[in-house]
Amino acid sequence: MSVVDAAKGEEFETRVPLLIVGAGAAGLCAALAAKEAGVNAVLIERDAVPAGSTALSAGLIPAAGTRYQRAKGIADNPQLFAADIQRKAHGEAAPAVVEAVAQNAGPLIEWLADRHGLPFDVVDNFNYPGHSALRMHGLPSRTGQELIDRLRNAAEANDIIILTGRVAERLVAASDGRIWGVETARGDGVREHIGCDVLILACNGYGGNPALVRRFIPEMANALYFGHPGNRGDAVLWGEALGAQLAHLGGYQGHGSVATPHNTLITWAVIMQGGIQVNSEGRRFCDESHGYSEHAADVLRQPGQFAWEVFDARIASVARQFEDFRAAERSGAIQSAETITDLATAMHMPAARFVAEWDEVEKLKAGGGRDRFGRQFSPEQRCEPPFLAVKVTGALFHTQGGLAIDAVGRVRRKDGSGFPNLFAAGGAAAGVSGGSAAGYLSGNGLLTASVLGRLAGRAAATQASH
Ligand SMILES: Cc1cc2nc3c(=O)[nH]c(=O)nc-3n(C[C@H](O)[C@H](O)[C@H](O)COP(=O)(O)OP(=O)(O)OC[C@H]3O[C@@H](n4cnc5c(N)ncnc54)[C@H](O)[C@@H]3O)c2cc1C
Repeated sequence: MSVVDAAKGEEFETRVPLLIVGAGAAGLCAALAAKEAGVNAVLIERDAVPAGSTALSAGLIPAAGTRYQRAKGIADNPQLFAADIQRKAHGEAAPAVVEAVAQNAGPLIEWLADRHGLPFDVVDNFNYPGHSALRMHGLPSRTGQELIDRLRNAAEANDIIILTGRVAERLVAASDGRIWGVETARGDGVREHIGCDVLILACNGYGGNPALVRRFIPEMANALYFGHPGNRGDAVLWGEALGAQLAHLGGYQGHGSVATPHNTLITWAVIMQGGIQVNSEGRRFCDESHGYSEHAADVLRQPGQFAWEVFDARIASVARQFEDFRAAERSGAIQSAETITDLATAMHMPAARFVAEWDEVEKLKAGGGRDRFGRQFSPEQRCEPPFLAVKVTGALFHTQGGLAIDAVGRVRRKDGSGFPNLFAAGGAAAGVSGGSAAGYLSGNGLLTASVLGRLAGRAAATQASH
């Protein structure tokens, strides 16, 4: 990936008003917003069919003050949401970007529903850590596959062109940072230069580039990467070459509950409903409820880099709303036993230690107590036979660092000024999670992809020829 000096006289076979690299949630929301503003965007997508990490996600987007929340009597507002984001990010997230996503997430959900027919509702039977109101909005299947399919259908219905099977390999830029266009390559070797008035980078982060993960996030260098392999850090590499400001490169979304060896996501609802994790010695090792992102590294620190997640049939019935959980059940990842001692045998661990841990937790639940790690339990979290367990590991889902942007996605130079015609959204841009895994509030990924995608598409359209 490189940047070519426009003075070298590259010729462009085609010219478009707005070019977008990447057709995940960010790229498609940007293209739909630009179309509404009267500009036809062209997207370049590496895959034959757009999927990205968006397709691998649960498709849940947090938003505050929506009509879906009001219909269920959920009190929430953008200020509360912004405060939750910033609290989880330890105050490190750019305030203007936090404000923009918190204010615009509700309108984004209602725009996708009303204008593009996405049938959202709000998840109301469990909450994720750090959100002070129920505000996760999802589609009926609770899958990112449904989200990307519906966004792609909306793009097709709006005659938006997606050039698939095509990689953006080089940017052509002038010495003042103005982007002239992109050099692309198709699988059959054909190369094409596409010129543009404005460029949006929506090609996600560097989770699929082991060298960059080693460089920026050494603690996850050997972890399973659970995101889209085509996200190879091109935005960061181009940004470095252009002299862009890069921010929070150590930030990422991890997940401490991926069934192994089945590689299926076990929803964090299992923990929030009262599930616990123990290592191969039958010991608990931390407050599991602190957040699934930072918990990935906790699990990877255990012997064998795995843990057992233990819960019951009631919790499974909540988790079953997620297709991934149902898939884990179908694949035989979940063990079941009538007694905790039998479950210990199924997990091949010392029964005495595990049973002692389990009994202590159940006692704390009954009394609404707090454990030695600081985790607060409550009586509704009590578990009853049959008991269930799944072997899990920690994984890297996506990176949160990237190009520093302003509140509409314009990429910033090192001196803080904006590039004239370069925008970024989603995983290509620095998110709102600060510089560590612990700063990731659930939903920050699709939040910044979809909301900033829309804002960047709208802003870019004002600069592109109609
Ligand atoms: C298992 C999993 C579960 C998750 N669950 C959630 C959730 O429920 N809620 C949430 O908010 N977030 C979740 N996330 C995070 C979320 O999926 C991402 O933050 C979000 O999808 C990012 O969207 P994006 O458009 O930036 O990137 P993507 O959806 O990854 O799209 C980027 C696209 O760019 C293409 N591309 C990259 N480089 C090039 C290039 N040079 N040329 C052409 N094309 C290129 C890629 O092929 C890809 O299709 C989850 C992630 C994972 C992995």
